Amino acid sequence: MLEKKLCPVHIKLMLPSKTKYGLRFQCPDCDIYSWDGPTSMPGTPATHKFRKQAHEVFDPLWKSGKVTRKKCYRQLSVFMGLARKDTHIGMFDILQCRLVIAFAALKGGSVKNSGRCKSTNV
Ligand SMILES: [Zn+2]
Repeated sequence: MLEKKLCPVHIKLMLPSKTKYGLRFQCPDCDIYSWDGPTSMPGTPATHKFRKQAHEVFDPLWKSGKVTRKKCYRQLSVFMGLARKDTHIGMFDILQCRLVIAFAALKGGSVKNSGRCKSTNV
């Protein structure tokens, strides 16, 4: 069964296409897109860039084996003030992704300089 994804700006069905990263849904009227699955929400290319960066610093925390993935996500949900079920990087906006990056820094992960804060990107 094919999922349906809606562009939050244009309230239009986004069109699926197959890519090497999996199914991608694209708004016909803007650059907002989403990946397949319930934990990927539509976002601008800038948002997706930050989500990727958040994964790059968050995933090594639990991949190191020092803490379980489950525990790591639970700690992140407390840090973010979110319910665990809402704690998926694929659902986050840019500011939330920045918080994930801050969380990883506090946990001793590596942090790349994400550049100056540009509020217009949020
Ligand atoms: Zn759109």
